[in-house]
Amino acid sequence: RLGNETVKAELGRATWKYFHTVMARFPEKPTTDEQDALRSYIYLFARLYPCGECAEHFQQHLNKYPPQVSSRKAAAGWACFIHNEVNVMLDKPEFDCNDLGAFYDCGCAGDEDEAGA
Ligand code: FAD
Repeated sequence: RLGNETVKAELGRATWKYFHTVMARFPEKPTTDEQDALRSYIYLFARLYPCGECAEHFQQHLNKYPPQVSSRKAAAGWACFIHNEVNVMLDKPEFDCNDLGAFYDCGCAGDEDEAGA
């Protein structure tokens, strides 16, 4: 039981890191196609998240707070907000979304030009 909780938390930490990094790399001025792609990705992510209970909760959060995909800033701010919703649900401290900037650097500086998505 404790083992399961540990694995679930580890999966969560890895996933959040990836999720926020995707948002931090989303185009500042996305095309309609890029906006559609991110929106679809988020709904499929929620549907396929491997912890069933988490996926169910997250889909409920999504129904309440649909993804914001109009810009990098909007997407990153939305992701921070929705992660905070999960934090509240789990009695965890809220993250200050003003601190997102440097926190989710993917180490891919330099490929800005070829970053299609
Ligand atoms: P995490 O919440 O994993 O966060 C990792 C790090 O991200 C933090 O240390 C902090 O540096 C940073 N961070 C924290 N908040 C934010 C924010 N708002 N924006 C940006 N960065 C932030 N667990 C359950 O038990 N039940 C669930 O229903 C559940 N649902 C989940 C749904 C999803 C989609 C995901 C990805 C995870 C879910 N989890 C769930 C796991 C849970 O959210 C945590 O990942 C896990 O409990 C480990 O928590 P943690 O305290 O290490 O920090």
